[in-house]
Amino acid sequence: MVHALLTNAPGGGIDYRDVIIEEEEHDLVLSPLYTGICGTDRGIVNGSLNFAKNPEKSDYLVLGHESVCVVRDSSNSQFKEGDLVVPLVRRPGNCPNCLIGRQDNCSDGNKKEAGVTGKHGFMRSRFNEDSQFVVRIDDPYMEKISVLTEPLKNVVKGFEVIETISKRSVYAGADSSFTNKNCVVIGTGTEAFLYGIMSSEYGFNTALTNRHPLSREKMDLISDFSLNFFDYSTDIAYPFKSEIDLVIDTSGDPATVLKFLRLMNYNGIFLFFGTNGKAPASSINGNDIDHIVERNITIAGSVDAAKVHYIRAVKYLKRWFKSLPVESIITGEYRPEYTEIFKKKPEDEIKSVIKWGE
Ligand code: NAP
Repeated sequence: MVHALLTNAPGGGIDYRDVIIEEEEHDLVLSPLYTGICGTDRGIVNGSLNFAKNPEKSDYLVLGHESVCVVRDSSNSQFKEGDLVVPLVRRPGNCPNCLIGRQDNCSDGNKKEAGVTGKHGFMRSRFNEDSQFVVRIDDPYMEKISVLTEPLKNVVKGFEVIETISKRSVYAGADSSFTNKNCVVIGTGTEAFLYGIMSSEYGFNTALTNRHPLSREKMDLISDFSLNFFDYSTDIAYPFKSEIDLVIDTSGDPATVLKFLRLMNYNGIFLFFGTNGKAPASSINGNDIDHIVERNITIAGSVDAAKVHYIRAVKYLKRWFKSLPVESIITGEYRPEYTEIFKKKPEDEIKSVIKWGE
């Protein structure tokens, strides 16, 4: 018997209760210490994500794909009780990408995603896990912050996609760096902050943007990370002197995306990351296509990430933890009983987490 946060996908709903889950045997038994809540969890709970799916023969889905866990029991000599690990979200199907550990690039859609599609997630007091699908956290001081490994691994992959695209022409400045290059990240949520920090790490002049002003707390954090912010709904806008070389969208809003696509520099890269199936349509015109073609602009999408990106994400977090206030990205901590947190996003949330156990 475990305590678990359950939904019934894709219809939605949320319940915290005791349940008996029949599981496969694996070499690790894990318990979550912290699990993160993101827009996907809220979308599943409010029934707006059609792709969410219960595991086969189950009439519920355990939520949760962002977590840091403690090893409770191990039959693998590489892990012992008390070790900290982050489990991977996606599990491979049988396509060629899945077979080489790149289920993030699954080519037939037959992968599973813990807490999202066809596999129970991590919001339960105990579960069995296969050690090939975990990455280790070797610093106990990083216990809480490691819950950001999962959202950060998306950013590590996103930048790998950007690097791959950037090889098609000279993309860096004449001094070989990105210090005169501009990046705009659309949105001011968890992924936007993490993309912003990474962009700044690469050397881009980086600004986050949204359609409204931000609270003093968020503005202070933006400044702590040496980022800029502009509210694109006002005239007091764009902070840089030249056009945008890199746009990363975390909003999934078509009208906003088009607005920034029209501001892109030659050889610009536009990375689609955010998704919002409910956003209203917006139309692209002939001038937009001319702009994209004549300026060699590349538009790409990026989803999820592989184990290699989780491992790099842990390294970035470890370094940032020493030099930046990354723990401030976690703006709220709740108990699993407080299921309201799945229904309403707190004002000024960046990342809300659930604390499990004592
Ligand atoms: P989040 O915290 O909800 O962030 C979304 C951000 O977009 C919020 O700051 C929101 O601002 C902003 N936004 C919404 N509409 C906007 C608009 N028209 N103009 C400017 N900003 C706008 O979510 P998250 O966890 O950071 O994730 C970001 C997105 O990525 C979500 O859509 C999520 O589903 C998606 N995602 C994708 C992947 C992937 O692998 N591709 C992985 C994880 C998540 P307000 O709060 O002010 O509305």
